Amino acid sequence: MDAFPSEPYSDLSDDEVFARIAAARAALGDDALVLGHHYQTEAVVRFADLKGDSYELSKKAAESHARLIVFCGVHFMAEAADILTRPEQTVVMPDLEAGCPMADMASRGELESAWVQLAELGNPDDLFLPVTYINSRAEVKAFCGLHGGLICTSANAGKALTWALQRRPKVFFLPDQHLGRNTALAQGIPPAEITLWDPVLPLGGNSLAVLRQARILLWKGHCHVHTRFSTAQVRQARQAHPEAKVVVHPECPQEVVAASDAAGSTGFIVRYVEAAPPGSTIVIGTEINLITRLARQYRDRTILPLVSSMCPNMYKNSPRDLLHVLENPGRVNVVRVADEIREPARLALQRMLDL
Ligand code: SF4
Repeated sequence: MDAFPSEPYSDLSDDEVFARIAAARAALGDDALVLGHHYQTEAVVRFADLKGDSYELSKKAAESHARLIVFCGVHFMAEAADILTRPEQTVVMPDLEAGCPMADMASRGELESAWVQLAELGNPDDLFLPVTYINSRAEVKAFCGLHGGLICTSANAGKALTWALQRRPKVFFLPDQHLGRNTALAQGIPPAEITLWDPVLPLGGNSLAVLRQARILLWKGHCHVHTRFSTAQVRQARQAHPEAKVVVHPECPQEVVAASDAAGSTGFIVRYVEAAPPGSTIVIGTEINLITRLARQYRDRTILPLVSSMCPNMYKNSPRDLLHVLENPGRVNVVRVADEIREPARLALQRMLDL
């Protein structure tokens, strides 16, 4: 339980909060590592020792000697960091309420129910290999670990799919249908062999014939930040800026990816902007905080959002929340994954690392 409610910090001015964060951070020295996801606000990420995507940051946490890992991101990221770090390291996050709606679209119970239903086709552990995006609950990662499956990121989803299809005839991909579909199509899998699994419908809303034919089952989950983008916006951007390149995240719908010049993970988007020549125009379809930061960093390029789309969950971590965890190191907002979930989830993560 949170023993130190953060309300007292509301009396402080922004400048006082920033000064106390700097002082608390300096007092902790190398004992703490502050990680800032690309989608965090500037007010928070300015205090991060490292910036990156969820997987890069968790890996850096595990490699560090810091005993306190402050993960400025959403809950599944702090869980992944806890799974990868050593027992003497403690992972905390500024606001425990900062969750990810897409990760919450798949639970272990729903996945177990899917496995029971898929038994109508034969032993699911012979037929289907579960692959979960890292943006998922630890319990879902653990299910994948226990059933021979693995975790992927938006950067290595293609490799993960290839690995999975070398081992079993079919892949059960979750929780993001769009990353799964974009990845499968990019791997040359025909649309007729890809089907959606809606967890609230019997057989996921499919007939047995469709399930027999399918090679890829996609969980019906999505990221509301990336599904705000449309082909009409891409068209408008091209009309307004004919010279522009359009780059989007693969959590966007397939038709948006198809209408763009390039699609890739947050790391890919950062590198795309870095590699663009001065004077170029790049229109980006991903979370607005990353785009704003890139625009500030590369002032000799014109960097525009396809449309402003913010992740309200990432936004929940405020500087006052960060101050709270830094002034009460390891005593508040601790994220600890239960051992019976941690071990199989780590196995699924390890399979990804071994790819
Ligand atoms: S941007 Fe989308 S996937 Fe990422 S944390 Fe927000 S809701 Fe979840």
